[in-house]
Amino acid sequence: MKRYRFLDLAEINRPFMADIQNAIARVAAGGWYIGGPEVESFEHELSAATGTDYAVGTSNGLDALRLILRAYIELGAIAEGDEIIVPANTYIASVLAITDNRLHPVLVEPDPRTMNLDTSRIEASITPRTKAIMPVHLYGRICYDSRLRQIASDHGLKVIEDCAQAIGAAWDGIKAGALGDAAAFSFYPTKNIGAIGDAGAVTTSDPELAATVKALRNYGSDRQYHNIYAGLNCRLDPIQASVLRIKLPYTDSENDYRRDLASVYDRLIDNPAIIKPEHPADPAEHVWHQYVVRVADRDRFRTYMTESGVETAVHYPLPLHRQPCYEQLFGSLHLPESDRICSSVVSLPITRCTSKKDACEIADILNRYTL
Ligand SMILES: *Cc1c(COP(=O)(O)O)cnc(C)c1O
Repeated sequence: MKRYRFLDLAEINRPFMADIQNAIARVAAGGWYIGGPEVESFEHELSAATGTDYAVGTSNGLDALRLILRAYIELGAIAEGDEIIVPANTYIASVLAITDNRLHPVLVEPDPRTMNLDTSRIEASITPRTKAIMPVHLYGRICYDSRLRQIASDHGLKVIEDCAQAIGAAWDGIKAGALGDAAAFSFYPTKNIGAIGDAGAVTTSDPELAATVKALRNYGSDRQYHNIYAGLNCRLDPIQASVLRIKLPYTDSENDYRRDLASVYDRLIDNPAIIKPEHPADPAEHVWHQYVVRVADRDRFRTYMTESGVETAVHYPLPLHRQPCYEQLFGSLHLPESDRICSSVVSLPITRCTSKKDACEIADILNRYTL
């Protein structure tokens, strides 16, 4: 039986392998092991790619989010105990960055169609302590609209994008990372553009915020042995920067490939037992980090897929408000939309490891599934 893998990182990086090996050798021979030219060049290239004035490389995506919030605290825009609006259906890192800074996450239910934060529910969650909205472009689908923009401006709220899954996506011609006041990227190996280890970045066009994040990621130091903040060590490794410089120029072609697979699935999957994801009218709004379908009896469906040779994944099986670490904070919340999503979502293979022919065959396998 033919096997359809969900993901194989070595295979994804194989086309870049000679360049990656050269880049690693160049960094090793060059002697700049912390910061330096590879990190600075990558930062310039990322700010150009996102249409922002500044990019600051960080150790990973969670740290990028943590540093943004910490920088706003240092700058006096946000204070301990303030509230940050965040989607109830997201990866836990979005919320960890908030609680790590002793801020209060206010979970907002998703729109069941996009599975992203429902912008029509934001206003009801705003209190005098609300200081920011953190839209997460989950699964690669832009979570931004003119309503969110209006609410943020009416209430004087910062917009902090979680772009971990959405590099290259755009809304109304503006790239993810340039839509809000600041944005966090992750280059975790499985993301659309992945490093060969941990890596992340902050983008912004606010010079004060960029300078503060830059200091905070390096012990809070503004110049050598002079610390204006009690900072952290959250720097981007130059080896990862050198690898990302090779892959970043392929962002659009990688995303286009995923869009092609998504259209194959959308065109061919025709089974009333399977709910397909929404395709935005403007294809630029989705970079398909995941292709997420919904089914009623997920365990049975996944067993069927495994027995048919297709690997699937679940993003994510347990909602935030049911995570043991947040029992105290969220234990009493009633979030039925998030519960329904977490109990029914299944991600299909959608990387370079899946050919278009594979996608046709996978669609065929889905169409033969019966309840
Ligand atoms: C991956 C991810 C992060 C965290 O990125 P890391 O680099 O793994 O720390 C944050 N938010 C979302 C939505 C993610 O998918």
